[in-house]
Amino acid sequence: MLFKDRVCCICDEHKEFLSRPNGGQKLYCMQCKAKITKEHGQGYWKPCSFVEFLESSCKSRDKKNG
Ligand SMILES: [Zn+2]
Repeated sequence: MLFKDRVCCICDEHKEFLSRPNGGQKLYCMQCKAKITKEHGQGYWKPCSFVEFLESSCKSRDKKNG
């Protein structure tokens, strides 16, 4: 793993603690993560799972038709 790749995708700075809250490729530092969660709420991280979104929309459609 390249050390220089470990930067936050928001502030573009290397931080000691980085995480991928949405299971994607993008890394977020604690500060930016907290800022986004504060502004958008925990739900912000959920739509990032596109497969999950497709599955749930398929299921709700099935329910309506059934
Ligand atoms: Zn950051």
